[in-house]
Amino acid sequence: MKWSKTFIYTLKENPADAEIASHRLLMRGGYVRKLSSGVFTYGHLALRVLRNIEKVIREELDKKNCTEVLMPMVQPKELWQETDRWDVWDDILLKLKDRNDREHCLGGTHEEVITDYVRRDLKSYRGMPVNLYQIQTKFRNEIRPRFGLMRGREFIMKDAYSFDVDKEASLVSYEGMREAYHQIFSRLGLDFRGVNADSGGIGGDKSMEFQVLAETGEDALLVSDNSDFAANIEICPAIDFEPKEKSDEPEQELQEFSTPGLRTIATLSDSLNVPACELVKTMYYMLENNEKNQPIAVLLRGDDEVNAVKIKNLLGLPAEPRLLSDQEVKELTGANPGSCGPVGLDIPVYVDTGVSVLKNYVTGANKDDFHLKNVNHGRDFKVAQVADLRLAKPGDASPDGQGRLKLYRGIEVGHIFYLGTKYSESMGAKFLDKNGKLKPIEMGCYGIGVSRTLQAAIEQNHDENGIVWPLSMAPFQVHICHLDPKDEKVNQAAHQIYDQLQAQGFEVLLDDRKERPGFKFKDADLLGMPLRITVGKRGVENGEVELKERKTGASHALALGAVVDFVRAWVAENK
Ligand code: ATP
Ligand code: MG
Repeated sequence: MKWSKTFIYTLKENPADAEIASHRLLMRGGYVRKLSSGVFTYGHLALRVLRNIEKVIREELDKKNCTEVLMPMVQPKELWQETDRWDVWDDILLKLKDRNDREHCLGGTHEEVITDYVRRDLKSYRGMPVNLYQIQTKFRNEIRPRFGLMRGREFIMKDAYSFDVDKEASLVSYEGMREAYHQIFSRLGLDFRGVNADSGGIGGDKSMEFQVLAETGEDALLVSDNSDFAANIEICPAIDFEPKEKSDEPEQELQEFSTPGLRTIATLSDSLNVPACELVKTMYYMLENNEKNQPIAVLLRGDDEVNAVKIKNLLGLPAEPRLLSDQEVKELTGANPGSCGPVGLDIPVYVDTGVSVLKNYVTGANKDDFHLKNVNHGRDFKVAQVADLRLAKPGDASPDGQGRLKLYRGIEVGHIFYLGTKYSESMGAKFLDKNGKLKPIEMGCYGIGVSRTLQAAIEQNHDENGIVWPLSMAPFQVHICHLDPKDEKVNQAAHQIYDQLQAQGFEVLLDDRKERPGFKFKDADLLGMPLRITVGKRGVENGEVELKERKTGASHALALGAVVDFVRAWVAENK
């Protein structure tokens, strides 16, 4: 492609609203332009990257016998009511009405549509296993769209859905997709981890996220330093590396004492000279229900944090419970946060496992500037349940018993779920099994954020000058900087290399603009193609061009006639 004939506009300055490197580079390289919050136009270069990602996805899914389809973007309300998700997903779905006042939403996910599609024809065990996928635009009314394509409102997703006769077969499908995802993200040249994860609002009880490792990632991952255990912090069991035995000291008399101005664990710990891990803090959440709201208390060691996803899963809530505001805490307990505790409140109290082994501990007294000492659960307040409710942290024991956990940050580019019969049951997608018995179909669903993957790759592969594309994703393999469009000989050499490479099937961007060399080099670094060939007057007089590798900076002087062979060998080696 000739730059002078196409539409690529780079920016010299960093856009003000781009907070992370990949977003800045996407904008500066003219890859994307924002239309409105979380909604972008993909320029030609970005489109080529998307196509490359899609090609790898299609090839790997085809190997697993998946079949591509394309579903509607606009979905009727009635379908979402069948699964009760019309209300649950209310803040995520963009809802609209047609001219007959019928309500619809833009597809934020397609479990309902695919289940409806399949239930019409899949009536026998003979039709299974089957796995259908599409690559399509999704719309989610994200509360905080940010970081460019990372969290868009309109974004491109590959979503696949498997249908099986029973759980065992469904887990085989799940495993096949796990393998396919490993292949896909490996071929895309990404440094990633598959981590155990929460199933969120999708349903099911087994899921794995594929996380591209990057400092700026929104997700926290805990990975064993001594095994392949890896989990999203949201669900990672918290196990002390040196667990405390349950204390056998006798329970002592409850005592209130004055703690003026001591409203944080840190100041309390300093003043009482007790380590934070032996103080107990109380957090209050609201379980919100249409009929009645129920506040609850959660007790933790002073140096731990609540994991609200664990509360959600323990209590089987549709979403994470809401933390009470300071004002609500005061109304509930009579004291400001910092002087609150579980004693004397008539609400369910959940005790984290870390607290359950403690005795005679300190909590707030539910009276401003007072605490209680020698508090004991069971005696001083009723325990609704003891459970693992804290965030695991680096240094904790790996839940598989091997090694300790290390913290990484990641960008979720894929997520696979075993769904069970949640959708088939509620939507009546049933089949006749071998024995002629009517059964709900077992399902799995599998997403890849195609547009997010594009940006995650940049976040992981860039330097101070610009993008460094992995070869499999690069919009063009070769970028020719043609330095002298007015010089006949240089012109001829540049076009000769361009034509020859294209004839051999390589993708080449020829920068034939009337711009200064320094300007062209800067743009070449910014756009990030793996190989740059410089064709200039001095070199051409000696029958030579310079080829530079974007990633390593290694530079090679090549005879004009040797360029194609060099590129062929390099591409084969770096695939
Ligand atoms: P997240 O936790 O990041 O909000 P999710 O768990 O809601 O994502 P899934 O329903 O699992 O997302 O969707 C499958 C994939 O689609 C995700 O793994 C992610 O790569 C991508 N994705 C989800 N939401 C967005 C978004 N707002 N913008 C870009 N990609 C997204
Ligand atoms: Mg997810």
